[in-house]
Amino acid sequence: MPTSKGPPDAARLDRIVAEARRAREEREQGYRERALRILPWICGRCAREFDRANVQLLTVHHKDHNHHHNPPDGSNWELLCVYCHEDEHARELNAAGREPAAPGGDAAQQATHRPFADLAALLKKGK
Ligand SMILES: [Zn+2]
Ligand SMILES: [Zn+2]
Repeated sequence: MPTSKGPPDAARLDRIVAEARRAREEREQGYRERALRILPWICGRCAREFDRANVQLLTVHHKDHNHHHNPPDGSNWELLCVYCHEDEHARELNAAGREPAAPGGDAAQQATHRPFADLAALLKKGK
C-alpha cells in the first residue's frame, strides 16, 4: 500500500468510522442515562425501588423492542430490574416457540444468582 503522496483518505475514513462508532456507543449509553433521568427508579413489573447503590440492576426495556426507537419523552422506555427484564424477554422467546437466548451481555450476567426471583413471583401472584 503506497504511503507517499495523495490525500489522506485512509486516515480520514478511519476517523469517520471511529466517530460513527463513538456516536453509536454514545447513543446506546445515552438512552439509558436519559431514561434514568426522566423516569422514576422503580421496576415497572415488581415495583422494586432503586437508588444510586443498586441502579446498575435497573435496565431500560424498549416497549416496542426496537432499541433504535428512543423518543425523547421516554414513551418507548420502561425501567425493569434485571430479573423482570430477563423474564420479559424469556417469555417473548418462549411465546415465539424458540429457546431463550443464553444469558449474556449487559446486566443479565449478574443475574445467575437470582435472589429476587421468588419474591417477584410472589408479588406477581398477589396482584
Ligand atoms: Zn422487577
Ligand atoms: Zn427489553
